[in-house]
Amino acid sequence: MGEQLGVKEYRLALRENKLAGLKCKTCGFVTAPPRLACRNCGATDSEVVVLSGKGKIVTFTTVFIPPENHRGQGPYLVVVVELEEGPWIMGNIQGADPEKATLDLIGKAVYMNNDLIPNDRKPPEDIAPMFVLGG
Ligand SMILES: [Zn+2]
Repeated sequence: MGEQLGVKEYRLALRENKLAGLKCKTCGFVTAPPRLACRNCGATDSEVVVLSGKGKIVTFTTVFIPPENHRGQGPYLVVVVELEEGPWIMGNIQGADPEKATLDLIGKAVYMNNDLIPNDRKPPEDIAPMFVLGG
C-alpha cells in the first residue's frame, strides 16, 4: 500500500480482507476509515497502516427496514467496533441473530472477515467491514 489512503483505496483493501488506517506521524493516533486530518490532533501528515481487524463490540443497532439501495433484507445488525488499535468503525456482523440480539453483544470480541462477502455481490462503493464473533 502506498502513502496515500483515500476512501477508494480503503474499500479496495477491504475487498482483499485488509483493514487499512492512517497513523498520525505527529501523535500516533490511528484513524479508520481514512480522513484528511488526524481525528486527535488535526495533523495531516500520516502513514498508511494495516490494522488487525480485531476488536470488541461497543454498540449495535438492529436494522429492520433496509434503506432502498441496500441489497440485503432486514433485519440485520450494524455494529460499532472498537479496534485493538483504537479507532471505532462501523460494520456488519455474521453469526449473531438480529432478532435475538441483546446487550450481551456489547464487549464481545470480533474479528474482520471480508472473505465472507463474495466480491461480485459487493461493488466497492458498497463494501463495509464484515465482522465475525470470536477472538
Ligand atoms: Zn495526530
